[in-house]
Amino acid sequence: MDKGLSLKEIGEFGLIDYFKKISKLDRRVLRGIGEDAAVVSYTKKKYLLFTTDMLIEDIHFKIKEATPYEIGWKALGCSLSDIASMGGRPLYALVSIGVPEKTSFNFIRKIYQGINGLADIFKVKIVGGDTNRAERLIIDVFLVGEVEKGKVVYRKGAKLNDVIAVTGSLGNSYKSKKHLRFVPRIKEARFLINNFKINAMIDLSDGLSSDLFHILKENKKGAIIFKEEIPLSPKASFEQALHEGEDFELLFTLTEKEAGRISAEKKRINFPISFIGKIIEGEKMWLYSKKGDFKAIEPQGFRHF
Ligand code: ADP
Ligand code: MG
Repeated sequence: MDKGLSLKEIGEFGLIDYFKKISKLDRRVLRGIGEDAAVVSYTKKKYLLFTTDMLIEDIHFKIKEATPYEIGWKALGCSLSDIASMGGRPLYALVSIGVPEKTSFNFIRKIYQGINGLADIFKVKIVGGDTNRAERLIIDVFLVGEVEKGKVVYRKGAKLNDVIAVTGSLGNSYKSKKHLRFVPRIKEARFLINNFKINAMIDLSDGLSSDLFHILKENKKGAIIFKEEIPLSPKASFEQALHEGEDFELLFTLTEKEAGRISAEKKRINFPISFIGKIIEGEKMWLYSKKGDFKAIEPQGFRHF
């Protein structure tokens, strides 16, 4: 790699590819960089999952538009969403904060009420962290979870002709404040892996086009998306649903037969699942609309560089 390259030229994903290339693993690491959470040997029946997510003021939230409670909630929520995408159960968290000196104690207290509000729902224990002074508010949540060996779901595993499915609805997450208030899909992911054979899964943080592309790249497959099947959140445009991100829904693939079982059992399933597309040959994404339009789409979600 040319050391003179700028980060913009390498790009966020190029940088992560570089980290992956130079990382040295041992036998106990089943998955390292490139998954929503790292997967490490643990007990006879279970793997450990590790994930971390950092929120930075003015990038992931704005102090004027988010309450401290919401900031705390989102900080843990992002990491929980990554554990969900592996089919895991969250266990323990470390919370690190960088805080401008002028911040009031009350503000920090409310951030922690938000973290604990969500931690209580999923019985996550906060077992440590780090506290520092910073120019802008920064929160990082490192989360450990576990998953049964036979049930872990990776980005890899999507098969030709698999149905592509998504939970909930997509788009308009910033304006509607869903990105600050979402309940991570832990329970839904557990339900799915306990009742159906899920071939591949990722959580929707960067945006549908971008996150689906991660699955496609990992599996050397393509996808066709049926425009009218994408579930739009209230007031969301189709473009937002496709590219905007921070929906923190689950995107997964399964065989047509398993998708059929989901359809047949819809009454028993108490959260929305939409079938939005299909896995095909070739490493491209295509958008098909009922009007007959058929066009290639590029991944366009949020990038830091
Ligand atoms: P997600 O949106 O699911 O949290 P990211 O896009 O943040 O995932 O990261 C993609 C992958 O790259 C993950 O496996 C993550 O652990 C890894 N990763 C991201 N940043 C770094 C870094 N600075 N060093 C090592 N690994 C990283
Ligand atoms: Mg993720």
